[in-house]
Amino acid sequence: MVNFYHLCRVADPEAETAAHREFCRGRDIRGRIYLSWQGINAQLSGTREDAHAYAEWVAGRPGFGGLAWRTERVPAHMFPRLTLKFRESLISMAGGTKHLPVGEEGYLPEHLEPGQWREMIRAARAVRAGAGLGDGVDLGALPAPVAERAGKSALDEIVVLDLRNDYEWDVGHFEGADRPRESRFSETPTESTDDLQVPAYMEGKDKDTPVMMYCTGGIRCDVYAAHLRTMGYRNVYALGGGVHRYFEEVGGDEWDGSLYVFDGRVAVPAERPEESERRWREGREGEVGSLEGHVPGRVNSCLAHGQTSPFRGLRAAAGCRVCGGEAEAPPINCANIDCNRIFLACPGCKQRLLGCCGRECVEAPRLRRPVQDAPGNYAKWNKYAPEGERINESRIGRRRRERRARKSREAAEAKREQREARKEMAAAAMRDSAGGGGGGA
Ligand SMILES: [Zn+2]
Ligand SMILES: [Zn+2]
Repeated sequence: MVNFYHLCRVADPEAETAAHREFCRGRDIRGRIYLSWQGINAQLSGTREDAHAYAEWVAGRPGFGGLAWRTERVPAHMFPRLTLKFRESLISMAGGTKHLPVGEEGYLPEHLEPGQWREMIRAARAVRAGAGLGDGVDLGALPAPVAERAGKSALDEIVVLDLRNDYEWDVGHFEGADRPRESRFSETPTESTDDLQVPAYMEGKDKDTPVMMYCTGGIRCDVYAAHLRTMGYRNVYALGGGVHRYFEEVGGDEWDGSLYVFDGRVAVPAERPEESERRWREGREGEVGSLEGHVPGRVNSCLAHGQTSPFRGLRAAAGCRVCGGEAEAPPINCANIDCNRIFLACPGCKQRLLGCCGRECVEAPRLRRPVQDAPGNYAKWNKYAPEGERINESRIGRRRRERRARKSREAAEAKREQREARKEMAAAAMRDSAGGGGGGA
């Protein structure tokens, strides 16, 4: 598998896209490759030769010099097909990113090396706990403006921003990073006309507050930094190369749970990739993820959505969505087509609720996909739909429908919570009036 992104000005992204398509023709490459005026974002799987040939070719294109890519060995294709296209924005965000000086001088975050990032995470935690940085934090590893203020005890906060979706946070996150309040990163506003211009956790912070951002591969941080810099934030840091590179270099330190990924594996353990590779090699003989029957130089058919991930029973940071018990990663997506929410559950609840994320979905009026006990996302509804019930909708249409379903689901949940709280209050009032102060041992 090869991942990379590169921010640069592309004069004619549509022509560039056509050239990439031409290069990939006849090569064994699948994945998601997006080009825009602001550069490229690519996640792909393929034979070692083809995947590397493509990365090398891109790095040799005018304007793409210095492109760095990441390689990981995987047992099969991680994507069902190749989607290679031009997009207005590399990263979707409410308000778009086209107006932002993405990738330009002065508008990037300061990239921290993984080891330095780890010290910053420790520092953020110490500051948050009101403790001094004396113990357990290597002040020398912190960026100068942070170390200086820390030395003078003038540092009362370091914000750690998880720039991913809430369900990714649930699977795993850095210690000290709060769960994103915008449930999708794409809902994080960027318009300067909006009165809510920053993520909820940054409201009211002064512009010198150190902000640490991280995401899976690093691109969201680079794009979002352009917004924060435009807003006047001066100490904007990002984990260079994202969590992927962090795992490669320091492993799972200061990380809780596993890592959500946007390929057929859905989630990977928080450890060096060699370790994960050993896991799927050893533990998964005979399953989709194994190398059995593998022909060198050719990748196995496909390990993508709708199929089994080579990993199961991984640790998750958050509990089961349904019962609150211990959940396992990878998460699944709700069997109800109108919901499709990605959620974590325990094995028992997955069975009991027929692969749905809650009662509301089990009782949904239409379109429930078959129960899926194995990890890995459902494929599109049409794959399961009987003839005559297939639906044809655009990505935007689907997003709109899912957003509507999410809102109504959230409203139903809020109502239920209120009901339960009222019940509890009533019960407490009953106890008070009946017991008159009982409860002593
Ligand atoms: Zn459960
Ligand atoms: Zn659901």
